[in-house]
Amino acid sequence: MSAARVLVLGAGMAGLGAARLLHDKGVQVTVIEARDRIGGRTHTSHLWPDLPVDLGASWIHGVTSNPLTAIADQIGAARTVSLYDRWATFDATGRLLDVSALETRTFALMDKARALVDDHDSDTSLKAAIEGAPAWAALAPEDRRIMRMILNTRIEHDYSGDWSRLSAWYFDDDAEFVGGDVVLNKGFGPLVAHLSGGLDIRLGETVRAVLPVSGGVRVTTTTGAHEADHVIVTLPLGVLKSGDIRFGQSLAPARRRAIKRLEMGLLNKCWLRFDRVFWPPEPDMINFVGSKAGLWAEWMNGFPSTGQPLIVGFNGGNMADTVEALDDRATTASAMEALRAMFGTAIPDPVAAQISRWRQDPFAHGAYSIIPVGASGKDRGALAGSDWQGRLSFAGEACAQDFPATAHGALITGRRAAKDVIQAASLRG
Ligand SMILES: Cc1cc2nc3c(=O)[nH]c(=O)nc-3n(C[C@H](O)[C@H](O)[C@H](O)COP(=O)(O)OP(=O)(O)OC[C@H]3O[C@@H](n4cnc5c(N)ncnc54)[C@H](O)[C@@H]3O)c2cc1C
Repeated sequence: MSAARVLVLGAGMAGLGAARLLHDKGVQVTVIEARDRIGGRTHTSHLWPDLPVDLGASWIHGVTSNPLTAIADQIGAARTVSLYDRWATFDATGRLLDVSALETRTFALMDKARALVDDHDSDTSLKAAIEGAPAWAALAPEDRRIMRMILNTRIEHDYSGDWSRLSAWYFDDDAEFVGGDVVLNKGFGPLVAHLSGGLDIRLGETVRAVLPVSGGVRVTTTTGAHEADHVIVTLPLGVLKSGDIRFGQSLAPARRRAIKRLEMGLLNKCWLRFDRVFWPPEPDMINFVGSKAGLWAEWMNGFPSTGQPLIVGFNGGNMADTVEALDDRATTASAMEALRAMFGTAIPDPVAAQISRWRQDPFAHGAYSIIPVGASGKDRGALAGSDWQGRLSFAGEACAQDFPATAHGALITGRRAAKDVIQAASLRG
C-alpha cells in the first residue's frame, strides 16, 4: 500500500483523522485546505492570547468510548464537566424560574406530537407537528413560552435546525455516546494540533475541481493541481451543495440526492469577556425566556472551565440567521439587552467580544448538517462511502449516520474512509 498516493480534501476533524491514520500506516498522503489554519469547524481562537475560545465545537459530547476522549487523554488536555441539565432559567424581569416539571412535559408533548404524524402519508416539520397537537394549543401562554424556550435550546440548538425545517419523522435519527459532556479548558486546538503532527498539509489552497484521470484522480486548486490514486473528500455538506466544486464525472445518484436533500443548519456563538462575573457562577448553562422566542435563549458559563469572567450566548436556526446579519456592535448590544434583562441594568459592558458567523463562511456555509423534511438518516449513509470505482471517498460530519453533526462523528468517518482506502488499495495489489 505504501506506494499509493492519497489526497485528503479538508483539514477538519474528518480530514485530519483520515490523514493521520493513512500517514501512520505508511501511506503517502497530502491534505489540501482552503483556510490558512487547520481544524475547520473546530476553531479555537487565540485573539485573546491569555484566553483561547472555541468559535466552533466546544463539547466532547458523551465521553465514554468517544475517540476524542482518547486523544484528550493522550495529550493530557484538561477538561471540565459541562452539562446541559445543570442550568438556571431566568425570565425578562430577572426572575429565576423552576422549569424542571415543564421540561419533562415538553419532551412528552413532543413525543406525542410526533406520534400523531407518524402514520401520515408524508413527513412534516417538527413545528407543524407540535403546533398541530391538541396538547400544545391547550397550554397556558406562559407555559407555552417556556416550553418553546426548551425546544429552542434543547432541540434547535443541539441540531442547529429551526423547528420549521427539521423533519418531524427523522430529525434525531442519530446515536449518542454516554458518560456526560465535557469542555476542553484550552479549546479543541490542542487535539487538532496533535492529530496533524508530521502531516503534509497545504494551507490556503481552495479546491475547484475533482476530475477522474487514468488510474486516479486529479484535483485542481486555486494554486495548482495534484494527482493521486485516491481522493478522500471531507468538504462540508454546505460546500458540496454550493456547486463551488466541479466533479468531472457524475457522482452516484443516491449521493447526489443526499447532497440535495440534507441541509446545513446554523448555530452561532457570541463570546463576551467581562471584568467580573455578575451571573450565578455555578450553573453550566443559563437559559433566558425573553420576549422574542429563540433570541439569546441559551448561554454557557465559561467561568467553571477558565476561571475567567467569560460567558457565551448562542443563537440557532432561523434566529441565528437573523442575528448573523448584524454587525459586531449590534450583535453585542442585542446580547447585552438579554443579559441586562436577566441580571439588571447595573451590569458592566463587556471588555471584548468574539462572534461567529458560520453561514457567511464560504468554507462551511452553515454550522452542521440537519435532516429537514424530505430527508432521512439514510441520506447520510448514501453520502458516505466511495464513488468512481472506489477512487473517490466521502467523509465528514454529514456522512456520519451514528454521530452526525459532531466532531467525533466527523473523526470516525474520516478514519473509516482511510481504512476503506487502504483495503481497496491492497485488494487492487
Ligand atoms: C458553532 C458550532 C458549535 C459546535 N459545537 C460542537 C460541539 O460542542 N461538539 C461537537 O462534537 N461538535 C460540535 N460542532 C460540530 C463540529 O464542529 C463539526 O461537526 C465537525 O468539526 C465537522 O468536521 P468535518 O471534518 O466534517 O468538517 P470541517 O471541520 O468543516 O472540515 C472541512 C474542511 O474543508 C475545508 N474546505 C472547505 N471548502 C474547501 C475547498 N473548496 N478547498 C479546500 N478546503 C476546503 C474547510 O476549511 C474545513 O477545514 C459545532 C459546530 C459549530 C459550527
